[in-house]
Amino acid sequence: MKTSNQLFSLENKIIVVTGGSGVLGSSFVNAITEAGGTAIIIDLHQENAEQKAKEITEKGGKAFGYQGNVLDEAALTEVKKQIIEKFGKIDGLVNAAGGNVPESVINPDQDVFDDMNIEGMKKALVLNVWGTVIPTKIFGAAMKENGGSIVNISSVSPKTVLTRVMGYSMGKAAIDIYTKWFAVEVAKRYGDKIRVNAIAPGFFLTKQNKDLLTNPDGSLTQRSVDILRSTPYNRFGQPEELNGALIYLLSDASLFVTGSEIAVDGGFTKYSGV
Ligand code: NAD
Repeated sequence: MKTSNQLFSLENKIIVVTGGSGVLGSSFVNAITEAGGTAIIIDLHQENAEQKAKEITEKGGKAFGYQGNVLDEAALTEVKKQIIEKFGKIDGLVNAAGGNVPESVINPDQDVFDDMNIEGMKKALVLNVWGTVIPTKIFGAAMKENGGSIVNISSVSPKTVLTRVMGYSMGKAAIDIYTKWFAVEVAKRYGDKIRVNAIAPGFFLTKQNKDLLTNPDGSLTQRSVDILRSTPYNRFGQPEELNGALIYLLSDASLFVTGSEIAVDGGFTKYSGV
């Protein structure tokens, strides 16, 4: 029987985090390395990935940074080759690269038919859906023999309508069905070795939503005020408040859990507004 500490430990686990130098991804990397795991940070910008890895190494943790675009299958395959050569395995994958794309947003002063930016919305859709499916295809395949845990990052956006972000919401809605679909399909083929779950964060102030949530002077937009009014906890989340759910899903504490999603949203999706 494992103790709670052992259950939640990531000791000896090699865990890939896409978008690992973003605001939430960076917090995930902190949590993974604090739980004893080795974090492989993959991000669009090499210097950011390496800088984050350096920060962890200086604190005594184990992290390595790689440049990689989650939409580039060939580039990720090359990164995977390097990871396998260096570490021999991959035990976990956190699909944290993603987010909203500014040109996909429909502003209140725009016409919802005439000004709908199809190309912008396609970008948001592609980044969020294929930016999760492609890394899962590449890095998840390394889990076929020894097993592992895949954690997708969804959102509250497909659960209830958020105005203005249709492309993003459609992308996250696809992640929700993908998480369940892939969990079942891999279980049917590989038994109970590979888990596929998701976290649905509520609202956190990060880079990708900065323009929607804050004004140039740093004050909150009307949208933020509306969000807080619809959040029973009446505040934004702190990135580290996602880490409990993340470590649970990556560790042996969740061995019988697959196809599930954990909402970490201060009650946003449970509140009718009344
Ligand atoms: P962020 O912008 O701080 O981080 C996103 C990271 O992903 C960045 O480091 C960026 O460089 C990287 N990235 C973007 N496109 C990439 C690509 N093609 N290939 C590789 N890396 C790429 O944003 P965040 O808020 O930390 O977002 C992390 C995830 O959490 C996203 O999927 C986002 O949709 C989701 N999420 C965020 C919130 C929130 O309130 N911030 C809420 C729900 C879900």
